[in-house]
Amino acid sequence: MTDIPAMAQALRAGDRRALARAITLIESGKPDHRDQALALLDAVGSDRQALRIGLSGTPGVGKSTFIESFGLMLTAQDLRVAVLAVDPSSARSGGSILGDKTRMDHLSRDPRAFIRPSPSQTHLGGVARRTREAIRLCEAAGFDIVLVETVGVGQSETVVAQMTDLFVLLLAPAGGDELQGVKRGIMEIADLVLVNKADGDLRAQASRTCADYAGALRLMRKRAGDADGFPKALTVSALDQSGLTQAWDEMQALSDWRRATGHWDTTRAAQARHWFQQELRSEMMALLTHDAELRDRLTGLENDVAAGRLTPAAAARAALAPLDRR
Ligand code: GDP
Repeated sequence: MTDIPAMAQALRAGDRRALARAITLIESGKPDHRDQALALLDAVGSDRQALRIGLSGTPGVGKSTFIESFGLMLTAQDLRVAVLAVDPSSARSGGSILGDKTRMDHLSRDPRAFIRPSPSQTHLGGVARRTREAIRLCEAAGFDIVLVETVGVGQSETVVAQMTDLFVLLLAPAGGDELQGVKRGIMEIADLVLVNKADGDLRAQASRTCADYAGALRLMRKRAGDADGFPKALTVSALDQSGLTQAWDEMQALSDWRRATGHWDTTRAAQARHWFQQELRSEMMALLTHDAELRDRLTGLENDVAAGRLTPAAAARAALAPLDRR
């Protein structure tokens, strides 16, 4: 049995071991652990806020190199940085954070940093909850910046955009003038597009790619939370550590603007509502499926729908009937 008040206290004091144990607790699937996790989240409070940055990019664009360089630049400014990974597939072997020892080697040894690999859980819903709660724990532990890394290949970036304040898309220099296989959806959630590897032979190509993206971003519909000139495209080199200060300046300018104009609070409130609704849905499903009898009933209704005996709407209503106490 975990001593929740003691864990909460250690966590709020910034103890990274307590934070690691707390995240393990929220990742646990055991029902009694879930109760403890909720008690812990309650005990750590919500009075502290970090700047939450979502970072996405396809494998190989340089995410871990970027996080290492960018993270070290921030910790050198005495900022505390937490890095969380979202990887619903977990299929990429050796690709997940710290999967191979060279990933973020220096940052992982920095006392002002905390790096948490992705759990081996597979479904997106579970990963979303775990990440959201882990962000909260990092904030309570006094981290100034929480970086949430996603592999830009699935739906995880949309999920991460719903729990972060800024979204950064990392790209590699592209050949020709075609916009790389970046899905439109991910462009629509980006606040900052960083074209990485703007060094050596790739520098000119990176500048061209950056100009292409800047043009594409200008054509997109303006969103409520866009300050003048955003979303923006910049070139960086994670390897040479160039452009990182500018990227950080832009992130700060945008988040300062959002705080000053109220967009920050409105967005966080909307995100909280969204996650409440998601939680409600999954709790409802849990209520309907945890009891064997109800589960059988659901299976029966599902078969009726499949066979055309019931409409989906009528079956859903029938499924919910046991919960209806009016
Ligand atoms: P990830 O899969 O997105 O995490 O990418 P990695 O950080 O593992 O980087 C993939 C490859 O790109 C590695 O060989 C890196 O050394 C290289 N790389 C990363 N950043 C840069 C950069 O800024 N410039 C150059 N030239 N190579 C880079």
